[in-house]
Amino acid sequence: MEEKLSFEYAPAPESRALVTIKPKYGHFIGGKFVAGSKHFPTINPATEEVLSQISLAGKADVDAAVKAARKAYTTTWSKMSGKERGKYLFRIARIMQERSREFAVLETLDNGKPIRESRDVDVPLAAAHFFYHAGWADKLEYAGLGTTPKAHGVAGQIIPWNFPLLMLAWKVAPALAAGNTVVLKPAETTSLTALLFAEVCQQAELPAGVVNIVTGDGSTGVLIVNHPGIDKIAFTGSTEVGKIIARAVATTNKSVTLELGGKAANIIFEDAAIDESIEGIVNGIFFNQGHVCCAGSRLILQESIADEVIEKLKNRMAKIRVGDPMDKNTDLGAINSKEQLLKIRELSAAGDSEGAQRWSAPCDLPGKGFWFAPTIFTGVTQAHRIAREEIFGPVLSVLTFRTPQEAIDKANNTPFGLSAGIWSEKGSKVLWASQQLRAGVIWANTFNKFDPTSPFGGYKESGWGREGGRHGLSAYLKGVSHE
Ligand code: NDP
Repeated sequence: MEEKLSFEYAPAPESRALVTIKPKYGHFIGGKFVAGSKHFPTINPATEEVLSQISLAGKADVDAAVKAARKAYTTTWSKMSGKERGKYLFRIARIMQERSREFAVLETLDNGKPIRESRDVDVPLAAAHFFYHAGWADKLEYAGLGTTPKAHGVAGQIIPWNFPLLMLAWKVAPALAAGNTVVLKPAETTSLTALLFAEVCQQAELPAGVVNIVTGDGSTGVLIVNHPGIDKIAFTGSTEVGKIIARAVATTNKSVTLELGGKAANIIFEDAAIDESIEGIVNGIFFNQGHVCCAGSRLILQESIADEVIEKLKNRMAKIRVGDPMDKNTDLGAINSKEQLLKIRELSAAGDSEGAQRWSAPCDLPGKGFWFAPTIFTGVTQAHRIAREEIFGPVLSVLTFRTPQEAIDKANNTPFGLSAGIWSEKGSKVLWASQQLRAGVIWANTFNKFDPTSPFGGYKESGWGREGGRHGLSAYLKGVSHE
């Protein structure tokens, strides 16, 4: 009988003592922390422990934040040279690096993602966004975006819970580099790293009011979107809310960018390097618990290699370590909220009832907190809900194809168009397929790679505009086409 090798891992917890969490937080308006009136709890989704009380911003708070942002724009930020603005961005980037362990621990406690990911992906990439945009601040005239680039003014920014600090960086860094001031609202379940970022703004001596952070729920988001004192809206989140925002700003002069959902195809051709593609499939769907808008959530496999890939994938999935996000050995952490867990369960149950076959990796899930085992569904057809709707969890839907054209047709058969992956050893096939796919970001023989220099965004219901790179910068300047 074949002997199976297995390794025991000693616990390797990161220290929680690296962060000080206050029992209650207010908003960050005009360079100061100001008390809020109503509060709601933010919890650690891995333990359900209440971490702190977060303020719910109402009309008066949003008005105060917009007023502070306008004042900072007219009196300071719009008058400052790009070179000076750039210095602040460099300073913020360096402080984020210096305080990176603090940011990583806080992100993991509030969001549930493994410390390995917050430490090695979220925080370094967030700092990289500030470094990159710091470099643009004094070079806007040379970016090919017009000879007299002009900021919009005040940007209202609304971000989701899946990459709280990183999405803040994607929004704040280009806005400031282009000369705008901002009012930002983090998601209800993940406000803590945005509030730590407010401390970084103070530490960097950023002029008061250039960055304002108001915490709250969807009702605060509505107040920002509809505020007459805001010139530009930047939103990342669900397609459903994106459509509401698009309607709300349609009759105004506000400029808008929307980063919405996805249902990406990860296509494996029969000539792909199988073992590498297994790692790419795992990274594509199980990174960040699958809470990734560009996740490779539809695996599109060539029929001739389907059995081999699925068997190898199940073996690999059985080795994914699910559990305490603060443990440095953990691969898959907690689902961010009870609501999200219920949504994942509901869509998975739809997969069962519509006739797909579910397989979940055997693992012991902790008794407290919100957890979902890494799962794949085989026998999925294009009509199934799990092939069409964003599950936003660690659940992969597997479809098969016989000819390359069939792979493309299936990949494009979606209302979304954010990202896609192609696995093949043949360069000509990769180039051909990437030209056929209707997706904003296409990875070849890799997946889920991000870089501040590279524009990110979608087609169709995945959104409007781009973030990152020169294209993303253009969204924060007046009268420049985004595409
Ligand atoms: P939402 O789109 O509801 O939330 C995104 C942000 O918008 C949050 O800050 C939210 O506030 C805010 N918001 C909610 N309603 C409004 C509104 N009417 N006007 C303005 N802002 C608003 O996403 P959810 O968190 O509810 O997640 C639902 C689903 O969306 C997920 O299951 C997933 O499928 C998808 N999603 C996609 C993301 C992506 O990157 N593409 C990111 C997150 C979710 P608050 O959180 O405080 O309610």
